[in-house]
Amino acid sequence: MRLADKVIIVTGASSGIGAAAARLFAAEGAAVVLGARRAERLEALSTEIVADGGRAVWVAGDVREADVAVALVARAEAAFGGLDGAFNNAGTVGEMAPVADITPGTWREVQDTNLTAAFLNARAQLPALQARGGGALVFTSSFVGMTVGLPGMGAYAAAKAGLMGLAQVIAAEYGAEGIRANCLMPGGTRTEMAGDDPEFHRFVEGLHALKRMAAPEEIAEVALFLLSDAASFVTGGGLFADGGNSICKT
Ligand code: NAD
Repeated sequence: MRLADKVIIVTGASSGIGAAAARLFAAEGAAVVLGARRAERLEALSTEIVADGGRAVWVAGDVREADVAVALVARAEAAFGGLDGAFNNAGTVGEMAPVADITPGTWREVQDTNLTAAFLNARAQLPALQARGGGALVFTSSFVGMTVGLPGMGAYAAAKAGLMGLAQVIAAEYGAEGIRANCLMPGGTRTEMAGDDPEFHRFVEGLHALKRMAAPEEIAEVALFLLSDAASFVTGGGLFADGGNSICKT
């Protein structure tokens, strides 16, 4: 029970890495508060977790809205009495294009969903962690924007790189209060975001030293570590779970 008695928010919990993380965190003893837009998916996942003996509630809404971030924290406090951590994981690639062809609308959508949403959530979560006397935040970044400049992904890379700056400053500002903040950098992972085109999957697999993509459960394990007390001295950094993508040149 690596998250026994902890209350954890998971954004982007309706599919992929977020859904796998919610299941794992709950199985490891956490009470989870699920956030994403698709209410029926959140309800189904929450029902599944409770049927398996876990604790889960959900709030449907857009992570780009400040009120939704506040509502997630309020739900954690009302249902479970406080907040110990958050996996701020929701994200989108947006329409891919070379930088000169990215529309300002796409740029803003991608920044808002990946970066501004992380700020809005952290802004709402930090006072709750302070009230608890400590806690941990994890932001889902990517190898894209950290070590790899993938063509077509300028907006996404900038947003994901921005998360590292945000995590570093939160770690410095709130570390003395027992609050940790880190980024998790997954490699290519089999989720809705990665689509189901076998040719694209083969291309992505080839980018990794392990010559395969991750299952969402493998990434969830790393988020679990960063949120758990096993990572009690890990803060202000980034942890790659990228199958060797960042070091692979073959
Ligand atoms: P996914 O598409 O299955 O999950 C994305 C989640 O974010 C979904 O729950 C979706 O509903 C939610 N979301 C997106 N926009 C939202 C919005 N405006 N409001 C509320 N929720 C919103 O894909 P995934 O791979 O599980 O993505 C999870 C995170 O992992 C993302 O931040 C993504 O950028 C990152 N990531 C994914 C990969 C990969 O290869 N799949 C690699 C590196 C990083």
